[in-house]
Order: sequence, then structure tokens, then C-alpha cells
Amino acid sequence: MTDYEAIIGLETHIQLNTESKIFCSCKADSWEDAPNTNICPVCCGLPGVLPKLNQAVVEKGVLLAKAMNSEIRNVSYFDRKNYFYPDLPKGYQITQFDQSIGKGGYMDVPIPGTVTADHQPYVRRVGIWKLHMEEDAGKTKTEVGKRMVDFNRCGVPLIEMVTAPEIRSAEEAGQYLIRLRQLLRWIGISEANMERGQLRCDANVSIRVKGETKLNPKTEIKNVNSIEAVKDAIEKEIERQTREMEAGNRIESWTLEWDEDTNTLKKMRSKETEADYRYFREPDLLSVNLTEEWKSRILNGFPELPLARRERFITQYGLPEYDAEILTSERRLSDYYENAVKAYGSDPKKVSNWLMNEVLRMINEQGLDPETMALTPTALAEILKLVDAGTVNITTGRTLLGKVQQTGKSPTEIVAMEGLAKVSDDSAIRKVCEEVLAENPNEVATYKAGKVTLIGWFTGAVMKKMRGQADAALAKKILEELLK
Ligand code: ZN
Ligand code: MN
Repeated sequence: MTDYEAIIGLETHIQLNTESKIFCSCKADSWEDAPNTNICPVCCGLPGVLPKLNQAVVEKGVLLAKAMNSEIRNVSYFDRKNYFYPDLPKGYQITQFDQSIGKGGYMDVPIPGTVTADHQPYVRRVGIWKLHMEEDAGKTKTEVGKRMVDFNRCGVPLIEMVTAPEIRSAEEAGQYLIRLRQLLRWIGISEANMERGQLRCDANVSIRVKGETKLNPKTEIKNVNSIEAVKDAIEKEIERQTREMEAGNRIESWTLEWDEDTNTLKKMRSKETEADYRYFREPDLLSVNLTEEWKSRILNGFPELPLARRERFITQYGLPEYDAEILTSERRLSDYYENAVKAYGSDPKKVSNWLMNEVLRMINEQGLDPETMALTPTALAEILKLVDAGTVNITTGRTLLGKVQQTGKSPTEIVAMEGLAKVSDDSAIRKVCEEVLAENPNEVATYKAGKVTLIGWFTGAVMKKMRGQADAALAKKILEELLK
């Protein structure tokens, strides 16, 4: 058997989360709106109208270029990409062709479960060829006897980003998309929800005999709208090309469409080349001039990015990689963590444990936003301090999390109001211990016959009777004494 390798490049379209469209003031996000409700003469391409560039689109483009380590062009401009399709009323798309806002760059993508020769986690650096602003087209829909068109999406701002063919497997393609989605949300330029088409991916796939350097003809897979489907489609296409090559057939440059009902690839058309689009400079728009002053205003406060923050959490706070990965999955969560560590003042790993186990469960179950939830990082730190000081025990500490979130009151206030302070009074605990032993003669006999592990069960029973507020260590000590 010949050994083949896959050569994969991804083209992504990212829907920016601006209020309005790229060249008019229509609302950009139409996900919940009826067809053709967010349209105007500009985005419908009526004769005589003029586009006007939305400043927010440029700013978000600059943020993405920075995050992708791209060169940010001080002067970029728009072109017309001409083609006819019913969802494109102007007959051309306004896009950037040879002078795009971002040039070059790369994104680092850690590949889980793989290591380098010297046992370091393996990171695939994926080169970025270009990154440009453009407008979206509308949507067509077919029903029996009808062909319908919805122009709501016309003029919705997009960034198209093209990678170098440096991805080597379906798994790597999936990881690239996971990291890209994380990054887009992190820098706040897109919701990047694939199911809603806010992040769309086309994959260019070819294969070659391992060790060769020339590129074979590639196919382009379109219309895949989940990360799992992208991986699935690439996997199937690599298998198909391998079969063809083994049979001595030539691979042709097709465009393939992913059919999500049958999980198969279908041939759409032979691929157009760039010359087919007759690109020329858009005469209705001036070039985009990024002054140094504007650029520094956009980049002012640019955040530390997720992978860098993950590394810092490992070195600065001594967190295991697992904790650091989860805590940096979302920017707001990592801010929450750092604020809680600051407020607590010691033991960052303990803060991580509470956050990842108890608080994160609350966030997920109740759909909370770490930035605005009532249980603030300061309140979490306060609860930890109450536990440390012995004011409440751990069980009460855990219930306090939910109570603070529910009432918005401070932990100390709730402890005082509800009388939750830990009972460390020897005689009070002793009384309950005696009750528990008197009520369970069988267990006492079993214990005395040698099954000393029952001590945990007795302690649990005491804690239950005392609504979790007893000093558990003290209860255990008294029980052992009484059982002697
Ligand atoms: Zn419009
Ligand atoms: Mn495009």
C-alpha cells in the first residue's frame, strides 16, 4: 500500500456581530425575522443607490487581523466580483480582492492527544493567506412549484479567511474550527454559531503520496454547517480520492456539496476560476484608509488571547493543563477566575476546584453569564474564607453558592440571617451523637464486631440531623469515643 497524506485548506466565512449591514443601515442579524423584512434599496441593489461603508466592520476586521497575526494594511479597497445568481440582486458581490484588510498571518492550533518527539504537546501552526471584508448574498429556497428568495442576508458583513493548505487531517481541521470559534467570541466580533451560519466553512482537499512536494488537483467541499460534519466530509473525501488514485484515475477539480441528510458528498459543478468573476475595483467606494490614530484606538485594550492566557494560568497559578483549558474556554470565565483568585489572595488551585466543580455547574444549568451573575468572584472568595476560618463547614459553603446567586445577598449576611454558622459546641454535637447511636443498635453492633468503616456512616447521620452545620471532624471524634 502506498502511504498518502492529505493537504487541506479551509475557507471560512465569519458573520460579524455588527448592528447594521456593511453598506446600509438595515439590521444585520435577521435570524428571527420574517423573509425580506430587513431590506432597503441599497442591499437590494436597485439602480442608482450608493453603498456607504460601516465603520464597525473595518474595526472588527482589524481586530481579527491582529488576532491572526496578520499584517494590517493601512490602505485597502473593495472590488466587484461579478456573477449571476438569483440571491445576488446586484449581479455582483462587493468584496476585497487584491488589497484586503489583512495579509498573511497564522493561527496556532494545539492538537489534543498528540505530542512532539520531545514530548511537548503538538501544535499545528496554520498559515493564513488572506483575510478580507465582504458582503453576504441572500438565500434561495425551493418549495413544490415555487422558487423563493430572501434578501435579508444581502449585505450582512462577513470576513472571509483563507488558510494555507497546511492542515493534514480531518481532526486537525476540526481543531482549527474549534480554536477559531473560541477566538472570534473571545475578541467579541462574532457569535460564531455554525448552526446559524455565523461561521461557515468550505474545505479544499487533495492528497499526494507522502514525501512528494507537488500539489495534485483539489476538490472543494461546500455547505457544511457543523464541526462534526466538516470532519466527516473531509474524511470521506480523503477516502474517495485515495480509492481513485489507487485505481490509477485522475482527480478532477470539482466542487462538492455536503448533503446533511445522507452524510454524502455530491458533485455540484466544475469549479470556476478567479478569471471567471471579472473582478474590478468598486467605483462607488473610496479606499479604506486606516490612520495610525484610528488603528491604535481600535487595538487599545486588545485582550490577551486564549492560548497565551492558558499558558499563563499554568505557569503563574500552577494549574494543571486540564483546569487551564476549561478556565480559558471563554474570556468571561477566565476573567471571573482571575478576579476570584485576586479576591481570595491565596491557593489558586482551590479557587479553580470550586469554580470548575460547583460554580461552573450552576453557570451551565442556569445559563448564567459569569460577568453579570449575582455570585460574583468576590462573593466566591468570601465563601472560601468563611470555610477557611471555620465559620461554616464545607457543606454549608457549597449551599451558600446557590443562596448568594438566588438572593444577591452577601455570604456573611446569609450566614447571620439563616443561622448557618458551624456548630462546634462539644455538648450540642455529643447530644446528637448519642441519639444517632441509640437509634441504630444494629449498626453499633456491626461496628463493634469490627466494621470500623461504619464511622463515616454514623458521622453522615449526625451531619444530617444537624442540617450539615456540625463540625464534622469533631462529630467523628466524639462518635469514636462513644463507640469505644
Ligand atoms: Zn439595506
Ligand atoms: Mn466569500
